[in-house]
Amino acid sequence: MDNKMEEVSTSKNFIEQIIDKDLEEGHYNHIQTRFPPEPNGYLHIGHAKSILLNYGLAQKYNGKFNMRFDDTNPTKEKTEFVESIKKDIEWLGADWEDRLFFASDYFTQMYEAAIKLIKKGKAYVCDLTPEQIREYRGTLTEPGKDSPYRDRTIEENLELFQNMKDGKYQDGEKVLRAKIDMASPNINMRDPILYRVAHMEHHRTGNTWCIYPMYDFAHPIEDAIEGITHSICTLEFEDHRPLYDWVVRELEYPVPPKQIEFAKLYLTNVVTGKRYIKKLVEDGIVDGWDDPRLVSLSALRRRGYTPEAIRMFIDLVGVSKGNSSVDYAMLEYCIREDLKLKKNRMMAVLDPIKLVIDNYPEDQVEYLEVANNQENSELGVRSVPFSKELYIEREDFMEEPPKKYFRLFPGNEVRLMNAYFVKCVSFEKDEAGNVKTVHCTYDPQTKSGSGFSERKVKGTIHWVSAAHAVEAEARLYENIVDEEKGKLDEEGNLNLNPNSLEIRKCYVEPDLGKARPEDSFQFVRQGYFCVDSKDTNSEKLVFNRIVSLKSSFKLNK
Ligand code: ATP
Ligand code: MG
Repeated sequence: MDNKMEEVSTSKNFIEQIIDKDLEEGHYNHIQTRFPPEPNGYLHIGHAKSILLNYGLAQKYNGKFNMRFDDTNPTKEKTEFVESIKKDIEWLGADWEDRLFFASDYFTQMYEAAIKLIKKGKAYVCDLTPEQIREYRGTLTEPGKDSPYRDRTIEENLELFQNMKDGKYQDGEKVLRAKIDMASPNINMRDPILYRVAHMEHHRTGNTWCIYPMYDFAHPIEDAIEGITHSICTLEFEDHRPLYDWVVRELEYPVPPKQIEFAKLYLTNVVTGKRYIKKLVEDGIVDGWDDPRLVSLSALRRRGYTPEAIRMFIDLVGVSKGNSSVDYAMLEYCIREDLKLKKNRMMAVLDPIKLVIDNYPEDQVEYLEVANNQENSELGVRSVPFSKELYIEREDFMEEPPKKYFRLFPGNEVRLMNAYFVKCVSFEKDEAGNVKTVHCTYDPQTKSGSGFSERKVKGTIHWVSAAHAVEAEARLYENIVDEEKGKLDEEGNLNLNPNSLEIRKCYVEPDLGKARPEDSFQFVRQGYFCVDSKDTNSEKLVFNRIVSLKSSFKLNK
């Protein structure tokens, strides 16, 4: 981590080095990148890395950034996902301006490209069944076998391909394959399939087509059509690069795009795979793709993460060619850093018991002036009501305190944050033996900011005035997967953490009653919280804990 930090700020990453060289050698005279999601799910933090990397490079080199939906596979794609993906990318701050594209708009050009290959003798229609194609392909150690249909004439191939397009065959009956090399050590080069028959409706082109191009054929064409220079993808496509290069070479594009691979981003203690998230949603363990315990971008937004924090995180992670998991705590570090000086620090009691100040006048209310953020005076001040009956945290009182416990216990004095010193004189328990009310006396001389300094106290606790407090729900989160057991058990099921969500009835300062969905705050001593945008309504105020205040995570600079 330590060295990587330096690299990010002082030296260029490996992709930038490639781009510099390409510009220097005149391969390209401009830079154009793209983000090409398949609209078959919601974006997650890993996609944010790809988006910010591609967008960042375009910015840095004064180039262009294209947003492209890679919607060539009609089985899983939905318009709903197109909208959520656009929203997430805008939120992250990557601006595609007027360059929004759909790969399905290029179906005609792809079809023509296939015909061009047939005419060059570089593609043929094959009648082998899917099982036979697999058999003929060979293995990592054995070469494949030529298809008996490999030597069809150009005329025959043109006619059969036309028939494929015209709907004369069933799904799986015929495919168009590239004619490359069945003995290639790279299995991807053993006459890969370029087109298949699929009588399926597409979310944009409807029933216009019953043949669809395969990813490895379609993607380089999409890049070439749009004038992409550097087509950045993740490492699992490294073995596909020779095929990418073959396609752009055989199609004779004057300025062929270039594929570069980088490592996917993985995080500890969370799942990003669609398969797992779908299962969590279906099993009712999470309440949707935007459940705040997930790391889809909609979940992070609902939890209270900001685009700034995500950008900081992605910068810190850097770009590399080796797969590894990044500590989730680093993401938490980034959101703390981002919110620290921006957010008001408010008082909220998450596990309330009553505190009664016996010697405070019955009907008196004082309005105390409180700084919104002690480290940032620009956020101004607010006025907080103080009265005889308050709520404090259950853990801030102990009947029999251990050593070094400096909060309330019989006979001990503490400061009520922003208010007075109070001394515990007695307490009451309910029938179950739980402390219900703590009685104190206050010292009117000790008002915060009055300059009083005769006595010192070691503990400061927060509070809210009972008569003025607003009731709310606080949701406290832990990792969705069990940290100790690891993500998966022997059968490949997720090891879930049973305590990943804790719901508390709490009392918050009256000003927080005016908070709007997605507003966020620091609750002193408790962490950063964000108003939940899904479950908050006129009757109910719900706060998600974004992150607690402390962590053992250290960023080594
Ligand atoms: P998933 O496997 O999570 O469904 P995907 O790769 O199928 O992801 P796509 O919509 O095909 O999702 O991906 C769009 C782009 O985002 C691709 O260029 C892909 O390489 C990149 N991408 C996907 N996951 C990650 C990740 N974890 N880290 C970095 N980039 C990613
Ligand atoms: Mg995918």
